[in-house]
Amino acid sequence: MHLSDATHHYFKKAARIMDVGERIETLLATPLREVKVSISIEADNGEIRTFTGYRVQHDNSRGPMKGGLRYHPDVNGDEVLGLASLMTWKTAVVNVPYGGAKGGIALDPTQLSVKELERLTRKFVDQVQDVIGPTRDIPAPDINTNPQVMAWIMDQYSKYHGHSPAVVTGKPLELYGSRGRDSATGRGLLQVAREILKDVGSEVKRNRFAVQGFGNVGSHAARLLYADGGKIVAVSDMHGGVHNPEGLDVPALFDYARKMGTVKGFAGGRHVTNEELLTVDCDVLVPAAMENVLTDENAPHVRAKIILEGANGPCTPQADELFEKRGVLVVPDILANAGGVTVSYFEWVQNLQHVSWEEERVNTELEKVMREAYEKVAAISRTRKLPLRTSAYVLAIGRVGKATVLRGI
Ligand code: NAD
Repeated sequence: MHLSDATHHYFKKAARIMDVGERIETLLATPLREVKVSISIEADNGEIRTFTGYRVQHDNSRGPMKGGLRYHPDVNGDEVLGLASLMTWKTAVVNVPYGGAKGGIALDPTQLSVKELERLTRKFVDQVQDVIGPTRDIPAPDINTNPQVMAWIMDQYSKYHGHSPAVVTGKPLELYGSRGRDSATGRGLLQVAREILKDVGSEVKRNRFAVQGFGNVGSHAARLLYADGGKIVAVSDMHGGVHNPEGLDVPALFDYARKMGTVKGFAGGRHVTNEELLTVDCDVLVPAAMENVLTDENAPHVRAKIILEGANGPCTPQADELFEKRGVLVVPDILANAGGVTVSYFEWVQNLQHVSWEEERVNTELEKVMREAYEKVAAISRTRKLPLRTSAYVLAIGRVGKATVLRGI
């Protein structure tokens, strides 16, 4: 199932439970704007290469739209639309004053030089600069984009509109980025792990974690869960993974990954494939790589009792249903990985006020936002006897729906 269908499925399920009515349901599901552009650049060898880029703006009833920019061969309009609507619900769950958007360019970044990536990014901005902006739509990093890409976006946008650091978040610290942004999604996952484990009478240090993906989200999540006393029994990246039931030496693993560019081959455990990682014996599984990795085929074999969705859309709706039946608790992406957009919001606030917060302040405020969001979702789940995902959608749809109606249709 496409990510946009999956997101719509979850949205519809919650909207029907809330009885919002067909008119409002259709209104909330319909994206505001879908932009598709062709971006041609001159490659280093003089050839002309053309790529397809997308920016989908889903809803702006609660504020300017916000969402990552992804560089990946699988990027397509459908996926970007699904991710954009996911951002609408995510920003509402953590109650930051944004709507949802997402963007991407279909490309394999390993096939482009840094100079080519820069030219491509700047040309993409040329094509979308009139629909993004600090009060319209604020991009951020996602798969294969990083603070350097955000710096190019800020620079190119500023050529049209004057100095505009608040047009994009996840920037380098030297260029108006926020302290703590890099680790924010991982730190948010840690906070949510603490909360849900407390609810089931446990704590991080009494649990074993398996983490799929060792990029921005997965590596910081593994590092912070380990620092909190958790046992990290398996990690992986796109090349493969490593498993040690006794727990991995995470600092040594970081040293290895820094040198080798992958966790595969780390001597402190045995090799596992990405597929095997999902079913290793652990208490908490953190899928933090790609969407649709947990399906009706592998869900029955997952041994974790809790799934923390670090990635966007890692469970298909079929897998989600199987987990519910089996009593596996799934903390949905729109709650679990919302730490990134929360600190992006802090970065935007700092940029608009021309101030810079200490990292301690960023982390304290982030923990507060994540705790409050978790408590609100968990309370809906308890009182209405709904799974956490449906409860998160109920909370989000309520907030977005009220804003939409109050502003006037
Ligand atoms: P990233 O590019 O930094 O890292 C992605 C990781 O996944 C890498 O380790 C890569 O090797 C691995 N990977 C790629 N393809 C894989 C595959 N087929 N199997 C297993 N591993 C694979 O990306 P990221 O920013 O960490 O994003 C990961 C996920 O988290 C995405 O779904 C993204 O939308 C979501 N997310 C990111 C943020 C953020 O702040 N960066 C916030 C919220 C959600």
